[in-house]
Formats: sequence, C-alpha cells, structure tokens
Amino acid sequence: MRRVSIFGATGSIGCQTVELIAADPGAYDVVALTGGRNVAKLAEQALLLNAEIAVTAEDRLLGELRERLAGTGVEAAAGRTALLEAATMPADWVMSAIVGAAGLAPGLLALAHGETLALANKESLVTAGPLLMGTAAEHAARVLPVDSEHSAVFQALVGEDISAVERIVITASGGAFRDWPREKLAAATPEEAARHPNWDMGQRITIDSASLFNKALELIETKEFFDVRPDQIEAVIHPESLVHALVGFRDGALMAHVGPPDMRHAIGYALNWPERKALPVERLDLAKIGQLSFRAPDETRTPALRLAREVMETGGLAGAVFNGAKEVAMDAFLARRIGFLDMAGVVEETLTKMSADRLGSAQITLDSVTQADHVARVRAGEAITAIESIEA
Ligand code: NDP
Ligand code: MG
Repeated sequence: MRRVSIFGATGSIGCQTVELIAADPGAYDVVALTGGRNVAKLAEQALLLNAEIAVTAEDRLLGELRERLAGTGVEAAAGRTALLEAATMPADWVMSAIVGAAGLAPGLLALAHGETLALANKESLVTAGPLLMGTAAEHAARVLPVDSEHSAVFQALVGEDISAVERIVITASGGAFRDWPREKLAAATPEEAARHPNWDMGQRITIDSASLFNKALELIETKEFFDVRPDQIEAVIHPESLVHALVGFRDGALMAHVGPPDMRHAIGYALNWPERKALPVERLDLAKIGQLSFRAPDETRTPALRLAREVMETGGLAGAVFNGAKEVAMDAFLARRIGFLDMAGVVEETLTKMSADRLGSAQITLDSVTQADHVARVRAGEAITAIESIEA
C-alpha cells in the first residue's frame, strides 16, 4: 500500500484529493492530513481515510480537533511546529495543497523525507523554485505538477526531450472580469472577483484568476519547473478552458492537452503517475463544443503578466517579494481597504522599493525567502496604508 499525506486537505484541491483516495479503498495508507480553520472537515476526512494523524495549523483549535477525534485512534495535533513535523513522517506521495507562501516549508520537508511531492502550491515554485527543485534533486525525490496547465505541459512532454522544446503556451480563462470594460474594474468587489466562469476553486486563486495574478504566478512556475527561458513562455486567453497548455517543438509541432476544467484530472494524474488510471471526469464531445477560441491577453487591463516577466528576468528573491506583496494586497482587497486594480499597484511598488538588483543576486535559502517574504509584506502594507490615506 502506498503511504500518502495531504497538506491542505480541507481546501478545494485537498478535498478532491481525498475524494480520489477514498474512491480506491485498500490502495492507500493515509499518514497525515492537515488543515487550517476547518477542523470539522479535517476530522471527517481523517475518519473517512483512517489517517494516522490530523493536524490543524491553528493552535487554538487543538481542543476541538481532539474532541472530534477522541476514541477514534486518529492522533490530533495543532500549530505550525506540528504541521512541519507531520511533513517529516515518511510517505511515498505527499500532496502540497496549502494556499500561499505557508506551503513552502512543509513541501521542502516532505521532499527531504519522502519520494514524490504532488505540487498544487504554485507559490513554492514562485518564491523558491531553485530551492524546491534543488531539494528534490538532492534527496532523489520527485516533484509532479498539479496545477492544470503544468500537468498538461508535463503530459505533453512525456517521451520528449526538453531540448527540442521551442515554447510553452499556457492558457488563461480570463477569470471573472474577462468581458468587463476596464472602467468597471476599479470598483469590482471581492464577491464579483470570486465568481469564476469555468473553474470551481478556492477563493484566493479565483480572485487571482480575475486579476491575472494567477497566470502571472503560473508563468514563473513554468520557468522554474521546466527550466526554460522566460521568452519561451507565453500566456493566451482561452475562454473555454478546455485546452490547458500547448508545447511547441522546434519542428513546428504544437502538442495540446485538452480536457474538461476539472482538477480531478491533474490530481489523479499525479496520484497515479506513471500509470494512467480511469478517472471520474467528463469526456468531451468535440462536435458539441464546436469551437475553441484564443486571443492575446490585454496587459493594459492588469499589469500582472508584465510584472511576472520582470520577476522572471530578475530571478533570485524577486518571486518571493512578488508573491508576498500579492498575498498582502489580496488580504487588503478582501478587507475592502483597497480596490481591485490597486492590488497590482501595491505589488509593483513593493518590487520597486526592494530594488531588483539586490533581489536578483541574493541566495535562495528557506531563511532568505522567509525574510524577503516578511519584508515584502511590510512594504506592501505601507503601500496599502498610503493608498488608504489618499482615498480618505
Ligand atoms: P483553498 O483555500 O481551498 O485551501 C487551502 C488549504 O490550505 C486549506 O486546507 C486551508 O485550511 C489550508 N491553509 C490555509 N492557510 C494555511 C496556513 N497558513 N497554514 C496551513 N494551512 C493553511 O485553496 P485551493 O485548494 O484552491 O488551493 C491550494 C493551492 O493549490 C494553492 O496554492 C493554489 O494556487 C493551488 N491550485 C489550486 C487550484 C484549484 O482548483 N483550487 C488549481 C491549481 C492550483 P482551512 O480551509 O481548513 O482553513
Ligand atoms: Mg492553473
């Protein structure tokens, strides 16, 4: 039986991972499940999968988790230290599905103590790509992409030589505001941004889709995972969300990955890799779909993609600063302290303040990334306060 753990089990990706594992009883031995605030869900999942341990990241919720698991044989633990300890429990396969920079440290520990890390937490690659991939190489562990575009590229590359790749094209649905006029974007609310036309995902990634920050993170993720140059990576708007990515080879061939917008495909592919097992996803009826459309993204609507290109060129700690500032800007947008378009302004100002030269030449260690993330959050906080004071 394969030993598996899920970090971020209570989230959108985590729940779908639990669903696929529960559907194959006897195949998996579940080690650790972790969650944040949703301990009711975490306890329910731990019982369903008969996990060894359930860990909530929230210290204050230990009592409640213990109560829910009393007498069941599932151990309960809480807090950041317990979460990191769970990442050192040996497992053959670990799902990294915590949202945000908080997912990096458990992912690194899992790679040092396990075999395969299924990576949904794109922030790990954005903030510390060389560190994550280097840790995997050092411990002869493997990282498998779970982000749909990167899973698609990975699948298109099976049996191919990366040196024959000319370009990688990832698609973007365009998010909630794809068809909104630019004038309306400034007044967009968190509720409006969190309504995705095609994908059912967690709140933060859905808002990142609307601002194209999700695609910006994914451009950087592509560079770090596949080790290609920034000028080899493109993003294209594809409203139907059926083609997830395309790989262009030097002979001119473009290999596209097509499938329904259902994360259970990418999760299941990573779970079963290198085998392909049957998955409960819709089979596409191409004649019914009729047409697929593509168009270039309009970077004047939101500068996220331009900023991502700058981050890729700078390298070093620029990704950690970009991501940290973006997370704080989103918190401020969710709290209605700043507007939708202000998020990109906050990120850009933070990157400028922290100086590209210094960031580019910095060493990437867990400490330096944590420090850059921290300073970026402080600087972004200042930029947010400045915006509020102008508006007051
Ligand atoms: P959700 O917000 O739905 O879930 C996040 C998970 O992380 C929950 O289990 C949450 O716990 C937990 N969590 C949140 N903050 C912390 C923290 N500080 N420490 C520990 N655990 C924490 O996110 P998604 O499932 O949507 O996304 C997860 C990751 O996968 C993200 O990196 C996202 O970009 C990526 N991804 C997601 C896709 C999707 O379809 N959802 C597609 C492609 C990539 P709780 O809810 O209990 O508080
Ligand atoms: Mg994606």
